[in-house]
Amino acid sequence: AVITLILTFSADHEVANTVIIPQSSIWCTGDSIQNRRCFINNLCYSFENDDFVFVRGATSAQHGLPTVEQPVASINWTSPMTSSRPVDHTAHTSYRLRSVMGGPLTDLSGGVENLNNRDYQFSYVEVLDSAIRSKKLTASILPDKVLILKRFKPDNLMHVIHDDLLPLYYALLELEFTGAKEYRVFLVDDYEKGDFWNLYRLFKSKIFLNANHPWTKQTLRAEVDTDLVCFSTAVVGGMPSTRWYQYGFNRFQGPVEKLQITGHEIRSFASFVRHGLEVPRYDIDKPHYSARTRQKYPYAVIINRKLTRRILNEIDLSLAVAREFDLRTVTVNLETHSMGEIVHVLQNATMLIAMHGAQLVLSMFLPVNAVVIELFPLGIPSHDYTPYKTLASIDGMDLIYRAWENRDPAKSVAFPDRDPLLGGIAHLPREQQDVINKTLPVEQHFCCDNPAFLHRMYQDTEVDLKKFMEVAKDAMAQRAAQLESAPITKKKAVNTTDSPTTSKTDIASKFSHQTHGAVIQDEPMSTSTVRNVQCAVVPSRKVLHIDWEAPWNLQYINANTVYYELRVQGSGGVMQRYFSNGTEMEVPLPGSDKEAQLWIACVVDGSYGAFNTLPVICSA
Ligand code: UDP
Repeated sequence: AVITLILTFSADHEVANTVIIPQSSIWCTGDSIQNRRCFINNLCYSFENDDFVFVRGATSAQHGLPTVEQPVASINWTSPMTSSRPVDHTAHTSYRLRSVMGGPLTDLSGGVENLNNRDYQFSYVEVLDSAIRSKKLTASILPDKVLILKRFKPDNLMHVIHDDLLPLYYALLELEFTGAKEYRVFLVDDYEKGDFWNLYRLFKSKIFLNANHPWTKQTLRAEVDTDLVCFSTAVVGGMPSTRWYQYGFNRFQGPVEKLQITGHEIRSFASFVRHGLEVPRYDIDKPHYSARTRQKYPYAVIINRKLTRRILNEIDLSLAVAREFDLRTVTVNLETHSMGEIVHVLQNATMLIAMHGAQLVLSMFLPVNAVVIELFPLGIPSHDYTPYKTLASIDGMDLIYRAWENRDPAKSVAFPDRDPLLGGIAHLPREQQDVINKTLPVEQHFCCDNPAFLHRMYQDTEVDLKKFMEVAKDAMAQRAAQLESAPITKKKAVNTTDSPTTSKTDIASKFSHQTHGAVIQDEPMSTSTVRNVQCAVVPSRKVLHIDWEAPWNLQYINANTVYYELRVQGSGGVMQRYFSNGTEMEVPLPGSDKEAQLWIACVVDGSYGAFNTLPVICSA
């Protein structure tokens, strides 16, 4: 590719390029494509060759590139075709380990695991700055810092949020956290802006200080008419730790092995989207508002699909839900409602019902304790397709998830004559169609074009109301139990959303002046160790008398509930746990021991402070 680039411009020798293109330097950390992170100064991009370009000059520096063995002397090679002499490849060659740019460095996408596709990995080609100078090669040198990402499937909402937006959001936050502001997103795929561009556009705003929308290749091309465009700094890829699902490229699909993202971080991202879309909040301070449920008129939301995987008796379903649970029902879909409208109704819903599909990723906008019921077409086992179950189950999402599967062939409508990507099978040999029609459920398979899976997945479904209601009642009973046990406090009522009294300007200033991450204002705080622990054996009563002083920082934090956990261990090794509301307690001496070891921690709103590292020895 380097050669191509130089040859492209070597025809014209007359005019030396007057623009001085700054030399590039690269700094990477990490030791594999999956975990390497690279910062590049003065990275260029060649529109014609669709390559990133590293301008190599005397001051270029490289750090953290993969090491490979490279020949340091040329091989005295004789072609076996023209000579009968044996070829000795090693005679004049020695090798040494060198860091070189010779292959992919890091993932260009954020949320897609194990894609192992060179098209989605970042690499660049090197060009000598002297060669550029001597050719008629034009360049636009932009002062912008860019975060480079390749969208995976921008026409699918789950992929948009999981693969692109969430990893972008946390990559940009990381940069801001380290003081590097004003990164502009550069999307280096060949897609049009797409149906969900209004979500990608959010990375402009007051929140990320850069006032510009992301660039796509096309929009950047329209702004500059030079051969190269060069950025002052570039960072590659989103934050991979935000993934919760892998799509089954080289093992069956399922949750990622090491889930790192928390519900709190996802809700923080959801809050960013809500503000960006300027979705008004329900005012929970209005009269008639239940502090416990945060609802004036409780309602359920059905997200339907107009084209494929439809619910055929949607009106009956919504009437049945309304009747059974005394809920109003609202039906929305991506075809006729804006993203803002859908987010608006979701943020206060009691229940969300939808067929399996990308629209269910919007459950991240539901309030805590909301019920999510995912419907599965005939032959699609819910336990094999769990992106939305996984999302609902992430610690801190606090959603009540249930799956409902259609088991009745009479209530399923298939579309054999459709396009194969929408489940059509008419193009397949008769025997294969028969096997697909007879096989229930679909066997596990890799991504993405298994015809049996697509055929079943794109069926329409008439929901069996009786069977559905069994699932829904069970979920609503769990919700009732959870609401019953949840303390009603002002704090609890607002802890997953913004304060009801926060005005727009408050929010704007909060976001533009603060370092972000998941906002932890309402999270429990933990304490230091307790102080001055005294512990004595009282032999006459066979007890330990223990007292201590509260952790020093307890007076500086907000605490609704405070108690202490004591762990007492005798020489037999068995550890007993005791709980105390105060700072003094008597507990039984373990066994007939004359000595015991003691640890104490302070627990604030369910969050443990540190135990003492060395045990306190209790003796007579
Ligand atoms: N979609 C929709 N209505 C339909 C079919 C699809 O809104 O009738 C949306 C869907 O939510 C997703 C995109 O179109 O954002 C692609 O849908 P597809 O069925 O290919 O993917 P899936 O939903 O199975 O992930």
